[in-house]
Amino acid sequence: ETLHRAKMLAKRELGNTGMMVGCIGFGASPLGNVFGAVSEPDAVATVREALRLGINFFDTSPYYGATVSEAVLGKCLKTLDVPRSDYFLSTKCGRYAEGFDFSEDRVTRSVEESLQRLGVDYVDILQIHDIEFAPSLDQIVEETIPALNKLRKAGKTRFVGITGLPLEIFTYVLDRVPAGSVDMILSYCHYGINDSTLGDLIPYLKSKGVAVISASPLAMGLLTDNGPADWHPASSELKNACKAAAEHCKSKGKNISKLAMQYSLKNKDIATILVGMNSINQVKENVAASVEPMDEQLLMEVEAILKPVKNQTWAT
Ligand code: NAD
Repeated sequence: ETLHRAKMLAKRELGNTGMMVGCIGFGASPLGNVFGAVSEPDAVATVREALRLGINFFDTSPYYGATVSEAVLGKCLKTLDVPRSDYFLSTKCGRYAEGFDFSEDRVTRSVEESLQRLGVDYVDILQIHDIEFAPSLDQIVEETIPALNKLRKAGKTRFVGITGLPLEIFTYVLDRVPAGSVDMILSYCHYGINDSTLGDLIPYLKSKGVAVISASPLAMGLLTDNGPADWHPASSELKNACKAAAEHCKSKGKNISKLAMQYSLKNKDIATILVGMNSINQVKENVAASVEPMDEQLLMEVEAILKPVKNQTWAT
């Protein structure tokens, strides 16, 4: 056992929340079968291994697998009989399999449904899911964020966050809401080897006292040996470059996912990196990556391969 207790996952404070979260967070979207089917015993075993290695932050959404991710995660936590104070739970509202609804009425009902599926009395974080899809960001500012702060007062969530792909949505909203009404942002696919643009936003977020969660360090499968699922929105140019980078690592007996995790974890201003996991092995590999030194030479080679597509993103 190389990962003995002393080498468990490091913890970082999530902004000003006082929450000490593992620097790797458990992205539960794969438990909703979005990257392929996951059996319930496999889901339980994966969550058990995550907890054992020090992962204490779990992120889900009613959107993932059309509520399946929340239900399966809730079942795992119940089966494992984990004390509620031993982990932090984040879910979302506003985005559903049937579409978007950021109204006060919908998000208020949504959190009750999520709590039921998760089998808990409160979540630590309730985030507004993919706000760029709101009819107008002003609805998020004027209606949804105040609604979530009411839910906070009612004890349904301890903290409030916003998520989405384009980085400019965060500044638009944070410039228009009272201090303390949004505690964190969740950005995805913008802090990895192929795209590190979130880095430029960090000084602004720090000045606002807003915590940073970065998701999808493997760029939703681009930076893996198996490559992305068919639905991946990247251009074929970006997909091909990432494939070439993965093959380069493989030819040297190395693994691109490990390098990608280490690259994302290096920035300590980012409290936690959310990675989607659906097997014991992935949990072990990702936690091990966090305690091993990064291969700087390999990073330079991969960065050179990805240079033509650096910071290329896609329409949301
Ligand atoms: P990711 O970049 O974490 O990639 C996940 C994929 O990589 C899965 O197929 C997984 O099986 C695989 N994988 C994980 N570890 C691996 C390893 N060591 N080797 C090889 N493959 C490995 O993308 P993601 O799952 O989309 O994002 C992570 C989490 O972040 C999500 O589950 C979700 O909780 C959150 N997220 C939120 C938003 C949002 O709020 N808008 C968007 C994206 C992601």
